[in-house]
Amino acid sequence: MMNQEFDVLIVGAGLWGCVVARELAEAGNRVLILEARSLPGGNARSQRHPQTGIECHCYGAHIFHTSDKRVWEYINRFVHFNDYRHTVLTTHEGKVYFMPLGLALINAFYGTALRPSEVPAFIAEEVRRAGLTGEPRNLEEQAISLVGRPLYEAFIKGYTQKQWNTPPKDLPAFIIRRLPVRTDYNVGYFSDTWQGIPAEGYFGLFERLLDHPGITLRCNTDYLALRDTFPADLPVFYSGPIDAFFGYRHGPLPWRGLRFEWETRDERDYQGTAVMNYADADVPYTRIHEFKHFHPESRLPYESDKTVICREFPADWKPGDIPYYPVNTDASAALLAKYQADAAACPNVVFGGRLGEYRYYDMDKVIARALDQVHAWMDKVK
Ligand SMILES: Cc1cc2nc3c(=O)[nH]c(=O)nc-3n(C[C@H](O)[C@H](O)[C@H](O)COP(=O)(O)OP(=O)(O)OC[C@H]3O[C@@H](n4cnc5c(N)ncnc54)[C@H](O)[C@@H]3O)c2cc1C
Repeated sequence: MMNQEFDVLIVGAGLWGCVVARELAEAGNRVLILEARSLPGGNARSQRHPQTGIECHCYGAHIFHTSDKRVWEYINRFVHFNDYRHTVLTTHEGKVYFMPLGLALINAFYGTALRPSEVPAFIAEEVRRAGLTGEPRNLEEQAISLVGRPLYEAFIKGYTQKQWNTPPKDLPAFIIRRLPVRTDYNVGYFSDTWQGIPAEGYFGLFERLLDHPGITLRCNTDYLALRDTFPADLPVFYSGPIDAFFGYRHGPLPWRGLRFEWETRDERDYQGTAVMNYADADVPYTRIHEFKHFHPESRLPYESDKTVICREFPADWKPGDIPYYPVNTDASAALLAKYQADAAACPNVVFGGRLGEYRYYDMDKVIARALDQVHAWMDKVK
């Protein structure tokens, strides 16, 4: 395989790799990106549903939200955002509630008409009634100590059990640090300054990020199978799994997986909203996405008499499966520290992105991190 004609190699054409590539190319570098999948975009990738034209997010719903002005201005160089505002509803025992925990949910659930000023005392009384004493010893106790038992049992217990395939009383308390209870009827899920979905689609975002004469993309290409063919001194920006880079020499880092079941339905509107959660443990999926609702600005999806939905099921993970959520425990932190020490001994490689750092990042945080890392590197080699 080639090598002399490129200055930098990037592994992975997810958001991190694409932002790094763009910055390096704009600074005059000749960049090669290798992507193991058949198309760029990583887990934020989307594609148009062939029958309906509806944009579908291939790996679960992705809503862009940020309060970081630098990131917002950066991404708006490539795409425009629609004015979609994310709301999440949740079905519990046959009734539908507005998430997150706030006045709408609390008043509907308890059949009350609390006013904002009454909420803190009401929740405090629920917590007192639960009768827990001492430091919470697990996730169940932590959640109950924050919102009381009835809200925990209705909206947190079953969902968490499904997500982790573990009873919440066997999960560490630190997974839930805070459970903010809103005291108003604001049902906007995110409180960031800016949010929306790219009007051109996430596929449009990746096309535009990579549209630079200095960037060459090779898909269906696994870097790890080819790495001996590259010169040892070629700088590498690596956004694959950090443990895979080192041949899993200390053992694999643990992840949670997901499984998606897609369905095209002969009806205009299946659930009336983009995301519906299912809180109860006896429903095997955690949520249903209905993608046409992400584009309220576009008539195209709404004109279709069909709709596309996707049921999301949490799944166990084993090496070789797509990793979704890092499993943060003391054991995984100790394992990660070993790989980080190995990475520090690789001066030509910058490890980044959610897989390279073994860390859950929202998209805006991945962009910010990519910008920081690539500019630090360019400053160093100047
Ligand atoms: C279910 C789910 C929902 C989410 N929803 C949101 C949301 O609503 N809003 C939000 O801001 N964020 C969301 N995120 C987070 C978002 O997906 C990430 O921030 C983003 O995808 C991270 O980009 P990345 O480039 O770091 O990693 P990835 O997207 O995983 O990209 C890494 C790429 O590297 C490639 N690769 C790996 N190894 C190799 C190799 N050896 N050779 C070649 N290529 C390789 C992979 O194929 C992949 O394409 C969500 C995440 C999940 C799991």
